[in-house]
Amino acid sequence: MLTLDFHPAGRHFLHIPGPSPVPDRILRAISHPTIDHRGPEFGALGLQVLDGLKHVFRTQHPVVIYPASGTGAWEAALVNTLGPGDAVLMYETGHFASLWKRLAERLGLRPEFLGLPGIDGWRRGVDATMIEDRLHADRERRIRAVCVVHNETSTGATSDIAAVRRAIDREGHPALLMVDTISGLASAEYRHDEWGVDVTVAGSQKGLMLPPGISFNAVSPRALEAAKTATLPRAYWDWADILPMNRNGYWPYTPNTNLLYGLHEALDMLMHEGLDHVLARHQRLAAACRSAVRGWGLEIQCVDPAAYSPVLTGVMMPEGVDADVVRALIYDHFDLSLGTGLGKVKGRMFRIGHLGDCNDLMLMAALCGCEMGLRMAGVNLQGSGVEQALHHLSSHPLESARTA
Ligand SMILES: *Cc1c(COP(=O)(O)O)cnc(C)c1O
Repeated sequence: MLTLDFHPAGRHFLHIPGPSPVPDRILRAISHPTIDHRGPEFGALGLQVLDGLKHVFRTQHPVVIYPASGTGAWEAALVNTLGPGDAVLMYETGHFASLWKRLAERLGLRPEFLGLPGIDGWRRGVDATMIEDRLHADRERRIRAVCVVHNETSTGATSDIAAVRRAIDREGHPALLMVDTISGLASAEYRHDEWGVDVTVAGSQKGLMLPPGISFNAVSPRALEAAKTATLPRAYWDWADILPMNRNGYWPYTPNTNLLYGLHEALDMLMHEGLDHVLARHQRLAAACRSAVRGWGLEIQCVDPAAYSPVLTGVMMPEGVDADVVRALIYDHFDLSLGTGLGKVKGRMFRIGHLGDCNDLMLMAALCGCEMGLRMAGVNLQGSGVEQALHHLSSHPLESARTA
């Protein structure tokens, strides 16, 4: 008997920074009957989602959809553009940047990791001048790609991608720019074309409000050019097989039909609310969440206000408090899921997700659960964070998407 058979009363509060809650509308769309993936209805669906995605990535160029988690799209970005032993410049912003680097090593690339020592680098975004200096020193232009994480989900810090592009351009360096915005897309401002990104990697289960299971590569003309001569072995991930079929809305293999129904619905929801409104909603919820953390007298993990993530907030625990014990207590008592500390910050912090299908009252419920749990765990709080968040939300109203 699966323990899933036990179902506590009321709604589960899923406030990990992905998977994020899936709206009922999307769940219903996914439940439509699976159709012939070579038939005319499917082709029309394929064309619509491929086109709608361009708006979310803010690109005129192709977006590839894989039936895979974000990790698959990481691999796809690298194997389509690089060759064995290629030097790749990566930047340690946190756990996800570290996992992408490990993946690059396993593929036979030679990643070099920039960043600050210890957990200092895990409390801020990318320092573009470090990238610029390293590219400057690369006289022989051996570095083939610069890879950065836009929204580091393990820490709650975003990086200035436009600044990384400027750093590459100031050096006139030919490296490709690859960006992981798996948790940033449709929650944090992102501009694939304007920021000159060559490959953007994204996923379904964060800002796009879908279940896990599909992921994306947005691809620039330069990346497509690089793919023609790239020599890492690739088969399933090969853009060259997928893109020609995509022109008519099809795939060379069986695509994830039902998740594409969900994607269609998600794109519809995002367009109706308006992408700008969606992003403003995230910024406001994040600001309210931070005011709660300050009200508790706890530290926000990200120490650079310019890098605060609109997607999630990392909450550092005082010395001697195990964040995972607090999290477990909150889960048991309030059926609220918070993100665990990953890698270097395991046990030292937890993460509150406020992304995707999230509104004021959902955030307030999560903050109430946190505050109750922190008190029960005996954490010494300076005051009520809930009170501060209430104050923030009521004094910073956002124009309703209904009337906007
Ligand atoms: C979630 C996430 C990943 C991993 O994606 P999976 O879907 O779990 O494979 C990678 N990078 C970032 C920034 C993420 O948030």
